Amino acid sequence: MPILVMKFGGTSVANIDRIARASKRVALEVANGYDVIVVVSAMSGKTNELVGWVNETSPLYDAREYDAVTASGENVTAGLMALRLQEMDIPARSWQGWQVPVQTTSAHANARIDAIPTDNIGAKFAEGMKVAVVAGFQGISPEGRITTLGRGGSDTTAVAFAAAFGAERCDIYTDVDGVYTTDPRIVRKARRLDRIAFEEMLELASLGAKVLQTRSVELAMRFGVKLRVLSSFEEPSDNAGTLVCAEEDIMESNVVAGVAYSRDEAKMTLISVADRPGIAAAIFGPLAESGVNVDMIVQNISEEGRTDMTFSCPVDQVMRAQKAMEDAKAAGTINFHDLVADEGVAKVSIVGIGMRSHAGVAAKMFAVLRDEGVNIKVITTSEIKISVLIDRKYMELAVQALHDAFGLEKAA
Ligand code: ADP
Ligand code: ASP
Ligand code: MG
Repeated sequence: MPILVMKFGGTSVANIDRIARASKRVALEVANGYDVIVVVSAMSGKTNELVGWVNETSPLYDAREYDAVTASGENVTAGLMALRLQEMDIPARSWQGWQVPVQTTSAHANARIDAIPTDNIGAKFAEGMKVAVVAGFQGISPEGRITTLGRGGSDTTAVAFAAAFGAERCDIYTDVDGVYTTDPRIVRKARRLDRIAFEEMLELASLGAKVLQTRSVELAMRFGVKLRVLSSFEEPSDNAGTLVCAEEDIMESNVVAGVAYSRDEAKMTLISVADRPGIAAAIFGPLAESGVNVDMIVQNISEEGRTDMTFSCPVDQVMRAQKAMEDAKAAGTINFHDLVADEGVAKVSIVGIGMRSHAGVAAKMFAVLRDEGVNIKVITTSEIKISVLIDRKYMELAVQALHDAFGLEKAA
């Protein structure tokens, strides 16, 4: 039997009715002749609630226990979906990550999948099971502890299963009907893309477009998984969604494919650190070790052997970053006058493979922001993207203005 992977995100399994609705869709694919692996998220809002409880209990928590708590949301929906399918006379059972087992690294709260042995689920399919409902987002470490794959990780679970089982396709069912030129919740005129190249999707995702987790796109690209994003609310007949595919499979594309944003960023500046060989390693080593995801980095010009070092990180990691820097100062490995945290910034980025062959895209982006009176605090670029850090209060304005300026809106 050909295998299909269907992933349902939080809003698509938000309550018992929605689980029933998703199950009907699964039943359609079973009727189409597929053995189906369903990957489910926790009910929408559940993971946030669990994370909130962890933070309330222990702000600098042990990530192993964070995982033990946050993985639980998916267990509930997997069991409920299996029950619903059984009520529809479809042979189905649920699988938690450790039962498969989804083998991951020990990087708790941000683990990577190492392997998904297919024997257990494969044997059940051979016995007549039609649907394996897998709890997304979770796995098990070599030490036998429960791990999670980072926020949005069920997408990655889905693509990894599609790769492991050689699935015909991996369908990501969500609350929008595809990948748009930017978040349709911010820009009303955002346009759905029929296709988007892996490289562009990878950048958009890593720059904040949470419609797919970055690692899921990486895996799909590496293993050639046919990946589709579509709505769990529309009728199957008019639900083409967006196909994420190789660059060669796209006929025409804009210079800029899309605009992404990341709202909850912080800008941290170490004032007056000694400018000497090894200083960057002495700062960013401890930050990495304490689990701070540093993104942009700027080192100022030095004066009399001292300089300022600025970096950005997610706003909820500010406390961790401060502690890592204070500890390093106390240990004498770095010295600085002050650590200033600006917790009110956001990152806005434009992405497009067309930028490789077009000059002047950055200049145009900066002019657009100037015309809107938006001050740029930090800039980073790569071959196919440009990102700026700006005050959070201007984020939506900037996204809208860039979306207009690069001609991404849908036809009126
Ligand atoms: P799920 O719970 O199904 O995993 P997510 O909330 O993680 O859904 O992702 C879907 C959301 O991603 C959409 O509701 C939308 O607000 C947001 N989003 C951000 N950028 C984009 C984009 N470029 N295209 C589509 N959706 C986007
Ligand atoms: N429930 C997890 C989260 O909210 C994983 C996911 O939904 O993909 O991040
Ligand atoms: Mg998601």
